[in-house]
Amino acid sequence: MSSKDDPNYELIVVGGGSGGLAHAQRAAEYGVRTAAVESDRLGGTCVNVGCVPKKVMWYAAQHAHHFRYAADYGFESGANGHDWHRLRERRDAYVKRLNGIYEDKLGSRGVTYLRGHGRFVDPHTLLVDGREYRARRFVIATGGRPIVPDIPGAEFGITSDGFFELDERPGRVLVAGSGYVAVELAGVFRALGSEVRIVVRKDGVLRGFDPMLGGELMQAMRGDGIDIDVRVVPSSLERTAGGLVMTASDGRRLGPVDCVLWAVGRAANTDDLGLAEAGVELDDRGFVPVDKFQQTNVEHIFALGDVTGAAALTPVAIAAGRRLADRLYGGMPERHLDYGLIPTVIFSHPPIGTVGLTEDQARAAYGDEVKVYQSAFTGMFYALGDDKQRTAMKLVTAGDTERIVGCHAIGDGVDEMLQGFAVAIRMGATKADFDDTVAIHPTSAEELVTMR
Ligand SMILES: Cc1cc2nc3c(=O)[nH]c(=O)nc-3n(C[C@H](O)[C@H](O)[C@H](O)COP(=O)(O)OP(=O)(O)OC[C@H]3O[C@@H](n4cnc5c(N)ncnc54)[C@H](O)[C@@H]3O)c2cc1C
Repeated sequence: MSSKDDPNYELIVVGGGSGGLAHAQRAAEYGVRTAAVESDRLGGTCVNVGCVPKKVMWYAAQHAHHFRYAADYGFESGANGHDWHRLRERRDAYVKRLNGIYEDKLGSRGVTYLRGHGRFVDPHTLLVDGREYRARRFVIATGGRPIVPDIPGAEFGITSDGFFELDERPGRVLVAGSGYVAVELAGVFRALGSEVRIVVRKDGVLRGFDPMLGGELMQAMRGDGIDIDVRVVPSSLERTAGGLVMTASDGRRLGPVDCVLWAVGRAANTDDLGLAEAGVELDDRGFVPVDKFQQTNVEHIFALGDVTGAAALTPVAIAAGRRLADRLYGGMPERHLDYGLIPTVIFSHPPIGTVGLTEDQARAAYGDEVKVYQSAFTGMFYALGDDKQRTAMKLVTAGDTERIVGCHAIGDGVDEMLQGFAVAIRMGATKADFDDTVAIHPTSAEELVTMR
């Protein structure tokens, strides 16, 4: 039997997405005999139906946005139509190239790639495609999937996965949801020409983030022609001659539209994994609880990424995966991911960047010792025309030294601005440090170091 056919591994990683691949590759670099199991396309959610194709669509929407202001800068014409199908072909070809690169990387690092669905049959054995594999350690990195509400007719709608399969842009779209996926995809549809309506269960979008962000974004989206209906609890969806019509629990009827997109949250991929046979416990929402070292309740089984229910972001899954390998195989016994101060960007129109505590969270933690600095202005890009778009920024500080504990911004360019500020904040920067930093002019970013 060649070593490739030997079904006994030191490590088997279930799930070839951001976290699983990062862990498998780092472990293999330490010389660990590793296999990675993937039932679908390598790269997982991020590469195939998440960050990567989403960002391509966002770039397309950004082009449309710039065309809108081209006349202010002396150009004669704006966008002359848009070919969604062509964009999709080019985007899918790019994603396919990435799938190949991921497979090559596994090969070059010596990770065995097992194609198929993995299911535990006992705590040390995984069944993949009818064959049993054994390992000393397992890592569960099976990610999640979009939730479809359990209401009549829900199947007429699509999810974010279906968004990436659309071959044509629907003319009229209804997006149900208030999280980042909802506002991002709504923004893309609108910028590329669709009529868009968002329906949210509560009072606004992006609950859980600093309220300034959701408030400003709703204003900007409405300014862009997106309708937002609040306090809508969908109770059914039906196909009528004119299109899809959603009925809300209070009797409101919304539509007809050509496409309904459910962006109402994600569930963990844990139901068909044989976790009961492995002895791994789940929480009441189906996620795998772990300690700070990514360990499940079973000593030799670990979990990381979206399947744990912790900050569902690609760099988080990657960082957790690499640190776990450093700890188990790299002689770094305390290495683990600190889940505090994780910066994140929402690719809405305009984009949002946020890191640290919201104002309310800071007040709950530090009481009266919190001081907030805020600013709203029109970026210079809009100076020549009448259609102005706002940028808004907030710094949340705590204590006598005014340590920055939160930074929240919405406006053009904040997506690229935030990373550097996140480093400073992680290092414990104070408001005085920000003030002492010489501004870069003329930029929007300079506002963050000139706030009074
Ligand atoms: C629309 C959208 C946009 C997003 N945008 C961003 C963004 O801009 N920035 C960002 O940081 N994050 C973004 N995310 C989140 C990001 O994609 C996830 O946080 C990240 O992919 C999680 O990585 P993971 O390794 O935990 O899981 P995944 O990437 O989901 O990988 C899990 C893999 O496991 C496989 N699998 C599942 N069960 C089994 C099994 N039993 N056997 C074998 N294989 C199995 C799946 O097929 C999948 O490939 C976005 C997500 C979505 C949906």
